[in-house]
Amino acid sequence: MWRFRDVTSRLHPPDLHLQWMGGSPKCSPMSVRSILIHPDPRLKKVCAPVSDLSDEVRMLAADMIETMYEAPGVGLAAPQVGVLSRVIVADAEKDPDATPKPMAMFNPEVVLASDETNVYEEGCLSIPDQYAEVTRPAEVRVAWIDRDGNPQEAEFGGLWATVLQHEIDHLNGKLFIDYLSAMKRQLITRKSQKLKRERARA
Ligand SMILES: [Zn+2]
Repeated sequence: MWRFRDVTSRLHPPDLHLQWMGGSPKCSPMSVRSILIHPDPRLKKVCAPVSDLSDEVRMLAADMIETMYEAPGVGLAAPQVGVLSRVIVADAEKDPDATPKPMAMFNPEVVLASDETNVYEEGCLSIPDQYAEVTRPAEVRVAWIDRDGNPQEAEFGGLWATVLQHEIDHLNGKLFIDYLSAMKRQLITRKSQKLKRERARA
C-alpha cells in the first residue's frame, strides 16, 4: 500500500508559485473570459496536450487565473472557457487574507493517488449553484509542465488534491456530476440547462 509522507509541508513549494500579476512587457493585459455552462458539448471533449508554451498559451493561463478569481472559484480548466487544451489553473488557499498563490499547470497528470479517500462537497463554475459530495483519493502526486516549460512533480492533499483532480477531470471531458447517480446527474443537468436558458434570455 502506498502512502504519502508529510504531505502538508510540501503542499505549496514557494518556487512553484507564479507571478502572473507582475506583468511582462510582451504580455497584453489579462482579461476575464466567459465560462461555458453545462450542458455544452465542449465540456465533454478530451483536450489536446500543449505542445508549445507559446505566448498565446501563457496568456490563456493568465486569463484563466483572472477569470477564476473573478468568478470566484478555486480552479478552472481551459475547456470551461472553450479552449480544448490541457491547461488548468487553481488556487485552493483557504485563508481569505493570504496572498493569492495561483498555480497554472500545462499537461497535468495524476501519477499516483492514495488509497485513502476524502469527501468534499464539490461545485463547478460550469454548473452554477449546484453542489454534491464526491469521494476522491485524499492525496495525489501530480506531474505537469510549468510556465517556463520545466517538468514539475509535487504531492497535494486536502482541498488542493480535490481541486486538481476535479480540474484534470475536465481535460478528459469529465464533470463532478459524472460521479453521481444517473438520477442526481439528470436533476442537476436539468437545473443547469434551465439556468443557462434564463441567462441567454437576460
Ligand atoms: Zn469544474
